[in-house]
Amino acid sequence: MRHSPLTALLYKQPEGTPAARIVQTLGEHGALSATQLARITGLAKSTISTALASLKDSNMVIEGAWAVRGKSPGAGRPAITITLNPEVGTCVGVLLGVEHIQVILADVTHAVISDASTAMNSDYTPREAVAVASKLIEQAYKSYGLSTDTMLGVGIAVAGPINPRDGKILRASGVPTWAGVNIAEEFKRVLRRPVIAENESNCSAIAELMWGVAKGCDDFVFLTMDMAVGGAVVLRGQLVSGNAGAAGEFGHICIDPNGPQCRCGKRGCLELYAGLERPLSRYSSAQGGPVTIEDVISRAVEGDDVCRAMIRDTAHVAGRGLGIVTSILDPGLVVVGGRLAMAGDLLLAPLRTSFETHSLVRQSGPNPDTDTQIRGSAFSGRGACLGAVGLVLRSCGRSG
Ligand SMILES: [Zn+2]
Repeated sequence: MRHSPLTALLYKQPEGTPAARIVQTLGEHGALSATQLARITGLAKSTISTALASLKDSNMVIEGAWAVRGKSPGAGRPAITITLNPEVGTCVGVLLGVEHIQVILADVTHAVISDASTAMNSDYTPREAVAVASKLIEQAYKSYGLSTDTMLGVGIAVAGPINPRDGKILRASGVPTWAGVNIAEEFKRVLRRPVIAENESNCSAIAELMWGVAKGCDDFVFLTMDMAVGGAVVLRGQLVSGNAGAAGEFGHICIDPNGPQCRCGKRGCLELYAGLERPLSRYSSAQGGPVTIEDVISRAVEGDDVCRAMIRDTAHVAGRGLGIVTSILDPGLVVVGGRLAMAGDLLLAPLRTSFETHSLVRQSGPNPDTDTQIRGSAFSGRGACLGAVGLVLRSCGRSG
């Protein structure tokens, strides 16, 4: 597989130079004005102008007269925005879900080109994951007439913590056979491109940081509420991995030491009460057939008392768990994702009430500046694959 000259140029920016910082910042933010670039990078406007001139000459960045999001361009005079040249490269995000694989293809201006999924049997092997994802990637490039030479890198969202030292999946209790696998290496061997693998909840947090409700907020906590419970911690705009890659695994906070056994081997974990796996299994048995999270939400929206109670009960325990999390981290923002977040206020209202009861720093304290905001995900609980694209975009301009 051949790299395009522009792709090579993207990774040849010497680290720390104004040009490299501009490339990194545009990779992370998409379109920006020169003023925004100066503010974010901390570089003088004159330095930005000089570096931009050289980047334009080499066709790395282009200008357009588009409105800058969140800022009025002024009467009759649109702001000139700067983006990386979309021809510089494309990025791929892959979500290795429990029962499906999703692939998103995007360009360096953050435009999503394609989004496709394939259903998988549960506990599929890493080798099957690489084969299926590679085929989806190849189809995406072919359908849109793009050359895979433009592929800058691939981000992989995987269910399980990844050891930051050796890149191996630590303990994927959802997909037990994957423990010890270096999934990034498996993909790299086939795709021969830079590959970055991250925990699924960490990827969701990156999507919120780059495009969602955490945009502009460098310190926040992400809570995944789905069949299982996960989470992520973002500090100063960076993911916190922890010593073993398990930072933010809120689902395994012990709520009741005498409670039932969790899939992690411990007893009474938060996920047993705030995840939908157990209540949904009981409800499905009572209904005489399988019921999905989406079914529970739509029935709850229609007024079904049992489904509403199921969501409310998980919210109550999640609020207690968040009380513990915020006692340690005191974040200004908690973003709630996972499919259960699609229930909106049916989940968030009781969650906020429970959080108020169980936390020291409350949402409605005497000083609004110190409140902890709890918001639903911007991506209907499906931001992980987009966040995997974000991993690659955030690596633009860094040596790779
Ligand atoms: Zn557990």
